[in-house]
Formats: sequence, structure tokens, C-alpha cells
Amino acid sequence: MTCSACERIERIRLGTNPSFIAELRETYAVLHDHQPYRGWVVLLLKDHHEHFGQLPPDRQANIARDLGDAARAIRSVTNCPRINYECLGNVLAHVHWHVIPRYLSPTDPDPKKAVWVQPDSFLNAQLESKTRDEIVEKLRAGWRV
Ligand SMILES: [Zn+2]
Repeated sequence: MTCSACERIERIRLGTNPSFIAELRETYAVLHDHQPYRGWVVLLLKDHHEHFGQLPPDRQANIARDLGDAARAIRSVTNCPRINYECLGNVLAHVHWHVIPRYLSPTDPDPKKAVWVQPDSFLNAQLESKTRDEIVEKLRAGWRV
């Protein structure tokens, strides 16, 4: 079975994934394909597992530290007032976490709700490769701070 997360990880290891930001303890940080919330990062578990709860406790703890590092980097770059952390698995079974900067109105259409209530036209707006590269570079710099 093909897993799109495993394919993205393979491209990271080959050095051909332009969304790659940082290698962490248990995960790779990549820029989300769409950026309605500027600085939206996804942490992909380095190996294929489908249930966070079935990972050994030490790996779960390392992922929590990866999430904290991601949040610090995102906030250092965006100054966003809030961060949402989400591990869903409904669409992509490979364990991954969305780390989503949240802003105030009017940049953020509804700061009190989860991002998923927004229409697909908002969530999946096309991201120009030049813009993607600029955000990735800022986040890479934020990770080094
Ligand atoms: Zn996978």
C-alpha cells in the first residue's frame, strides 16, 4: 500500500522535498501544502505507524517535545497568539501532527473554531512555490534560534 507520508519522507531523505524544514527526535517537520494560516507545519512520524497510542511511551514523550519545538519556532517567526495541535488520522493514517498558528480576526476567519470548519476553497488555496520557499526558509531560521 502506498502511503503519501512515507513518500514525502523518502523525498526528504533524498534531499528532494522542498517543504522540508527540520529533522526532530521522532518526526520530520514540513510545511503544510496550503497556507491559509501562515506558518502551518506538519510533523510526520519518521516511520510508518497508524496509532499514536500504540507507540512506546518514550516515543510519545519525544513527539511531545517535537511539538514544543515546532510551536516555539512557529511563534518566533509569526508572533501568532495561539497554536493548535492536532493529530487526526481520518484522511492520512500515518501518524502526523498539524501545528497550526492561529491569528486574530480578520486574518483568521474564526479564531474560536478549529480550522477544519472553513471551506475547502479557503483551506486548500494554491501556494506559489516562491512563497512556500520563503516561509520554509523563515521557519528553518526560527528552528535554529
Ligand atoms: Zn506511512
